[in-house]
Amino acid sequence: MKRREFLKLGTLAAIGPTFISGVPEIFSKKLTSSGKKMNLKFYPYTLELKHVFTVATASRKTTPVMMVEIEYDGITGYGEASMPPYLGESHQTANDFLSKVDLQQFEDPFNLEEILSYVDSIAPGNPAAKASVDIALHDLVGKLINQPWYKIWGLNPDKTPYTSFTIGIDKPEVVRQKVKEAEQYKILKVKLGLENDKEMIETIRSVTDKPIRCDVNQGWKNKEEALKMIEWLATKGVEFVEQPMPKEWYDEHAWLRERSPLPIIGDESVQRLPDIRKAYGAYDGINIKLMKSTGMREAYKMILLARSLDMKVMLGCMTETSCAISAAAQLSPLVDWADLDGAELISNDLFEGTKIIDGKVVLSNLPGIGVRKIK
Ligand code: MG
Repeated sequence: MKRREFLKLGTLAAIGPTFISGVPEIFSKKLTSSGKKMNLKFYPYTLELKHVFTVATASRKTTPVMMVEIEYDGITGYGEASMPPYLGESHQTANDFLSKVDLQQFEDPFNLEEILSYVDSIAPGNPAAKASVDIALHDLVGKLINQPWYKIWGLNPDKTPYTSFTIGIDKPEVVRQKVKEAEQYKILKVKLGLENDKEMIETIRSVTDKPIRCDVNQGWKNKEEALKMIEWLATKGVEFVEQPMPKEWYDEHAWLRERSPLPIIGDESVQRLPDIRKAYGAYDGINIKLMKSTGMREAYKMILLARSLDMKVMLGCMTETSCAISAAAQLSPLVDWADLDGAELISNDLFEGTKIIDGKVVLSNLPGIGVRKIK
């Protein structure tokens, strides 16, 4: 296109709003304020884990979550903040943050960019609490137009990935038992980073030859030893290694990545969109989670940015109900790898939605984030 034609188009776009005053009545009604308001409600809930869950940094049997509802015009959008204690958010911090959120000032729930920028500006941090509002708003908007988000984004629901099933650090007999329970899953994700890394892998290899993905959760503190371990893991059918060393060690990860026979994925190092800049070059890919990214909107932008940089993308989760898992799953046709087993690890889910069938993420065709409340 010639520059002059482009400028002409630009001019047309610039005078666009003037045209709106000339649209027929039926359209202009939709564009004007309806007087309806969004009401935000929230309540604390505690997820019961089926097994004590141990990673390199902590061990626990429950996870605190905050459940959120945004009601508008008789329709309710559901959201959730999952807050494993080691990440610093809690029922108290989520309560404090959500108490400050005033959605009544916005007339149009479709104005996601403006509403979510406001929510982000209320206070720094609080990514899970912010995600809970983001998820509920996406659920509401999808329900208002009666479409699930994967359709709004133009994604093919058949392209969802298989999810890995996570096995925490444990004694050999428990690990063997967990591998048995994970029968329907085609990929195992194994937590490493304590003293028994080789034992964990050998134990799993004594009962299955399924592909393994390793997550060290920053547990290795020496790059040369990390490289040696990765070289050993590469002989054991391991696909990649996630966050081998402390999250601030970008240069050390770049060193490791240059030499590693396996892809290195950043998780704790990459929380939000601007972190991708720092992760580029240090990691082959990133693990995006709604509870880090402040929700679906920023997660979507992160996927596009990472893709544009030729980085691999994994979609992960915390222990969450099917509410937050189903929200993340809407994005899953866009990613290389999924680790969306969070709702499978709990015994008191409040929702049904996305299911894991024979290890594959299967989206529901319900609108919004695709969930139904069951309790
Ligand atoms: Mg991880």
